[in-house]
Amino acid sequence: MDYDFLFGILDERSISTGDSARMEHATDWGTDDANASPPDVVVYPTTTDEISAILAGATEHNVPVTPYAAGTSLDGQPVPVHEGISMNLTRMNEILDVRPEDFQIDVQPGVMGPALEQAAGKHGLFFPPLPSSSDISTIGGMIANAASGMQTVKYGEVADWILELEVVLADGSVITAGSKAPKTSAGYNLRDLFVGSEGTLGVVTRATLKLAGRPAQIRGGRAIFETLDDATDAVTDVVRSGVDIAKIELIDAESAMMSNAVTGNALPDAPMVFLEFHADHGIDEEIAFCRSLLEQHSPDRFEIADSEEMDELWQTRRELQFAIEEYNPELQAVYPGDVTVPISECSPLIRYIKSLGAEHDLLTPCFGHVGDGNIHSTVLADADDERALDRARAVSEAIVERTLEVGGTSTGEHGIGLDKRNYLVAEYGEETVEAMYAVKRALDPTGTLNPGKIFPEQFDTAPADRH
Ligand SMILES: Cc1cc2nc3c(=O)[nH]c(=O)nc-3n(C[C@H](O)[C@H](O)[C@H](O)COP(=O)(O)OP(=O)(O)OC[C@H]3O[C@@H](n4cnc5c(N)ncnc54)[C@H](O)[C@@H]3O)c2cc1C
Repeated sequence: MDYDFLFGILDERSISTGDSARMEHATDWGTDDANASPPDVVVYPTTTDEISAILAGATEHNVPVTPYAAGTSLDGQPVPVHEGISMNLTRMNEILDVRPEDFQIDVQPGVMGPALEQAAGKHGLFFPPLPSSSDISTIGGMIANAASGMQTVKYGEVADWILELEVVLADGSVITAGSKAPKTSAGYNLRDLFVGSEGTLGVVTRATLKLAGRPAQIRGGRAIFETLDDATDAVTDVVRSGVDIAKIELIDAESAMMSNAVTGNALPDAPMVFLEFHADHGIDEEIAFCRSLLEQHSPDRFEIADSEEMDELWQTRRELQFAIEEYNPELQAVYPGDVTVPISECSPLIRYIKSLGAEHDLLTPCFGHVGDGNIHSTVLADADDERALDRARAVSEAIVERTLEVGGTSTGEHGIGLDKRNYLVAEYGEETVEAMYAVKRALDPTGTLNPGKIFPEQFDTAPADRH
């Protein structure tokens, strides 16, 4: 492919064809080295104009471009499966403006969670929907993957906190989607079109985000239950009751056991729920009401934590997936991922996952944002036992299929990437996926941007394949 056009746009230090830069952009967190796909060249633009010129040139020369931010995706989203250019956006990491009087902040896409929190925090504000990975991931990646986090149960998803985006399209044109006004009815809602588009429709070069005032009161703790059903039912009851809960996370006994084994934690060997409350006044009444609901599910105990204990609790929760992965190097993890169902379906789905695990003699740790209907489950099988791995893959598929049968989605927050492509038609039907592809064709007719993602293989056409 012809990359000479890049030298007319960027200085040499912003273009790399070296093996180490190419390999750094060949995988994401969820892609192992065996499936690495290095780009031919990595570019590091710092301005919208540069991105515009790169995309216009790439489209003209039939070169694929895959945006790459921090690479913390779990399903191959930023992996350049058709090679070409990997566009690293992490050098665009400036906070452009904070307008506390409007509860707004303008950021470049490479800004990460801590920098955003620091800039907002100076004004007593915060950005509530950050994902658990916010310390290591960018705003651009969060927007492109439609991310959400532990506080979504109270505050909503990243998507709910975006006002306006500047986006460069595949032909190099620069558009503004959305508005800085708190609401708009003007024209098509193009802003939301780019949320969750995984770098396939345009490159986000600036985002105006909403901020919230920091709550004056923050308290939290954990409730320990005898059975997983009790714990899950307690979560759904609390959410349905309208208790003002900011975080409510389920951790099953298998996950707790693995966390203890890997990190040296001393979690009880039982299903449990971690909770956090945010309020400006009346937090004790809210906690008392919540306690009365939890008590209907016979908890062994409900403990309110001091602030140090609370930090430890959420740190444990953030490290849970690592603990599950590292629990036993002889076990391989297979991921149904972040399936999400209407909350009344959470308990039945978790029961189903556990029954599949028992039937096939496989570990199936489950945890997650069950208050949003979002269950993170992993199926673990002996890495050297091909038959056990086949069983694990079958269990994983059965979990996603059951999720879709009960009105859920194959991915609540991580995105489709490569791994969930084959569920898209089952989830939406062919006509809907055709309509999505019509949008892709309209905005990126040459298939320049991140080819090979989201759509099932029959749609998979990179620019180079056409010639
Ligand atoms: C330990 C761990 C915990 C996690 N926890 C959560 C969680 O709680 N909630 C959650 O939602 N996710 C979670 N994730 C997944 C992941 O961190 C998020 O999806 C994150 O938002 C990805 O951001 P990134 O900067 O790493 O983007 P990348 O992985 O680099 O890219 C993500 C996608 O966005 C595209 N892209 C990147 N920047 C742009 C841009 N400026 N314009 C257009 N497209 C762009 C890329 O092409 C790619 O398709 C977790 C991951 C890990 C490893």
